[in-house]
Amino acid sequence: MYFCVFEHNGSPKLGCATDSDRHSVINLTDAWPTGPESAPTDVAQLARMGDSGLAIAQELLHSRPASLPVQDVRLLAPIPHPAKNIFCVGRNYRAHIIEGNIAKGLPPETFPEHIEFFSKATTTVIGHGAGIPSYAGLTGMLDYEAELAIVMGAGGRDIPVASAFDAVFGYTIVNDVTARDLQRRHGQWFKGKSLDRTCPMGPWVAHKSVVPNPNALSIRLWVNGDLRQDSNTSDMIFDVPAVINQLSAGLTLQPGDVIATGTPSGVGYAMQPPRPLQDGDVVTIEIESIGTLENGVHDDV
Ligand code: MG
Repeated sequence: MYFCVFEHNGSPKLGCATDSDRHSVINLTDAWPTGPESAPTDVAQLARMGDSGLAIAQELLHSRPASLPVQDVRLLAPIPHPAKNIFCVGRNYRAHIIEGNIAKGLPPETFPEHIEFFSKATTTVIGHGAGIPSYAGLTGMLDYEAELAIVMGAGGRDIPVASAFDAVFGYTIVNDVTARDLQRRHGQWFKGKSLDRTCPMGPWVAHKSVVPNPNALSIRLWVNGDLRQDSNTSDMIFDVPAVINQLSAGLTLQPGDVIATGTPSGVGYAMQPPRPLQDGDVVTIEIESIGTLENGVHDDV
C-alpha cells in the first residue's frame, strides 16, 4: 500500500493506492468508518492507530475502486505538520563523505565512527510541487540532498537492530535542502538546515510491506534534468536498522516520527565549481519503489 495526503475542499485528506497503480487513490479520510477514533487525515495519525488502522485502510482499498486521479488533486506532504522536528542523519553515504572530505581538504577516506544526528524544524516541511524559496539575500549556497526517510510506526526506545523493522511504518523521500554557508557559520547544523520550506517530503509513503529491503534502492536526483546524484541506499555506512538502533538509545521514537537517512555524493557544493540552487531550478528526486518528488526553487515564494 502507498499513502499520500492531498487537499480536498480546503482540508487535508489521507489517500491510499494499491502496490501496482498509483495513478488513482481512494479518499480514506471520507470513507473511514465512524467509531471512537476520528478518521486519519495524514500518515502520522494512521501510524498512531497501529495494526487496527492499517487493517481498516486495507479493507477500504480492497472493497472499492481507487477512482480519484492523483493528477487532479493538490498533493501535500504525507505528514504536513509533524509533531516534532525531522530527525536527520549527517554524512552516511561512503562516496558523499569522500567528496565532502576532498572539498574541505581532508584525507578522503576518513569515516565517522558514530552516527551524526541533527534535526530540521517542523516548519521546513512542504509537499510535492510546492516552491522552495531561493533565500537569495540570506544564503549564497543553497543546496539539495536526496534522502530516503523512515516513517516510524510502533516506535519505541532502545530498539534492537534485530527488531528495528517492527518499529517502522514505511518510507518516503525527503529533500534535505541546506544553506551550506549558514550550516558552517552557526557551528551546529540546525540553522542552515531549518529555513522555512526546506524539507520537501513525499509525495508517497510506501508501507514497509512493499519495501522489504530499504538498503537496496536506487536513489537519484536531477536539477533541471541534469543527473547530479546517482547512487543506491546500499552505500550507507549506517543502514536503516543501525540508524533506528542508535537514535532510539535512551530516546523514545513515536509513531509518525520521520528520520532522514543522509544523502549520496553529487551535492552542489562539492562540484567544481560549486553549483548552488537558484531561482527557476527544478529539483527531482526518484527512489526505487517509493516514488518521485519534484519541487521548484523561486525568489518569490
Ligand atoms: Mg542531509
